[in-house]
Amino acid sequence: MTAATEIERAWALLAQVPDPELPAVSVVDLGIARDVQFDDGRLVVTITPTYSGCPAMREIEEDVRTLLAQRFDDVEVRTVLSPPWTTDWITEDGRRKLADAGIAPPGVRMLPLLMQGQPEACPHCGSSAVEELAGFGSTACKALWRCTSCREPFDYVKAH
Ligand SMILES: [Zn+2]
Repeated sequence: MTAATEIERAWALLAQVPDPELPAVSVVDLGIARDVQFDDGRLVVTITPTYSGCPAMREIEEDVRTLLAQRFDDVEVRTVLSPPWTTDWITEDGRRKLADAGIAPPGVRMLPLLMQGQPEACPHCGSSAVEELAGFGSTACKALWRCTSCREPFDYVKAH
């Protein structure tokens, strides 16, 4: 078994770790899992938290460690805060999975005043006629929006 194959295997396992706040996507989809490598026989996984002070981060660390420990004897999870995570790190796959789950993926940040951006379209019907209902949805990373075409509310992952 080569190191390259083992690293691929580790990435495949990481792709099974859901984000506690956005269970529709994995830590790989979100770009939280940054790097996997072997350091002197030890598997080292580097992760970057999404929202600073995110209480789910401990949980993610534990989930990553527990899952990888099933296959690898020696696992270290390193949390790196710099450069800070941004929603730009969410993969195309991740954006599609969010939309499939009825959650609007983060829009493009246009202006400093609009740091959280806005949804490009309603994830239910695709209409761009959307309005914000509340700045904070079920968690700090999501906002509650509503489509004025189909009237359905939906969660929006704030650009960050
Ligand atoms: Zn709609």
